[in-house]
Amino acid sequence: MDYGIRGKTAIVCAASQGLGKGCAMALAREGADLVINARGADALAATAGEIRQATGVRVAAVAADITSPDGRAQVLAACPEPDILVNNAGGPPIGDFRDWDEAAWQAAVNANMVTPIMLIRAVVDGMIARRFGRIVNITSRSVKAPLAHLGLSNGARAGLTGFVAGLARQVAKHNVAINNLLPGPFLTARQADGLRKLAAKAGQDYEAFLATRVAENPAGRFGTPDEFGKACAFLCSADAGFIIGQNLVIDGGSVNATI
Ligand code: NAP
Repeated sequence: MDYGIRGKTAIVCAASQGLGKGCAMALAREGADLVINARGADALAATAGEIRQATGVRVAAVAADITSPDGRAQVLAACPEPDILVNNAGGPPIGDFRDWDEAAWQAAVNANMVTPIMLIRAVVDGMIARRFGRIVNITSRSVKAPLAHLGLSNGARAGLTGFVAGLARQVAKHNVAINNLLPGPFLTARQADGLRKLAAKAGQDYEAFLATRVAENPAGRFGTPDEFGKACAFLCSADAGFIIGQNLVIDGGSVNATI
């Protein structure tokens, strides 16, 4: 299948590892040139080199904090007119709702709601003018099935989801498709860190705790960034322009719902 995005340009935020990297690699395999971003310059440069070597596309690396206006300006300066935007950032900390003061809420809302909205705002008119745009927001299954220890994520990402639901229908007629990908468990650095904290809280050994979680998943495993990235690349493909404002859960079936 030809995804029809060879030679198009994509910004992939928060992409030196994990799900963002999976999306960047999958888009590069389909021939898209990339601007990738993360804060740590060394890991980002290594990922850029790995993608270039594997795919031969052009990859620019912008080391910056995507949750800051200055970081976003640096990324947009490297690619003012992207055809594809993948919004991603680090997730908020796990904990109890009593832990989260106003500053914690402001940080979560900034990273997981305001940041993607500001990036969409910066690029969507150009996409409309060029009559092609694909925007994928990496959110979380917590939008669909809240996780008590991830209240900051439940709340902030729901705000983004509501905004996107409206905007996606406003821009669809210009061949601009905006959708959300909702990851369930993928064994990335963030997931492992969260599970270690939950295992410690439950007084359990990490490996045993992880094995139980894996066994509980209907697929009997956690997902891989590679398969997550391939779903993202499909939503960014030329033929995905009739998929509008959707929330695709990729979780091995762990959200137990009929629809
Ligand atoms: P990860 O493996 O920890 O990778 C996070 C990536 O984001 C790294 O490249 C990191 O690099 C970059 N990053 C973090 N904060 C950033 C910032 N402020 N500006 C720019 N880059 C930043 O995490 P992941 O598991 O792929 O998670 C990605 C997103 O999906 C998170 O929002 C997470 O909450 C969400 N999610 C993940 C899962 C899962 O199972 N993995 C499930 C549900 C939701 P630097 O640290 O160098 O900046």
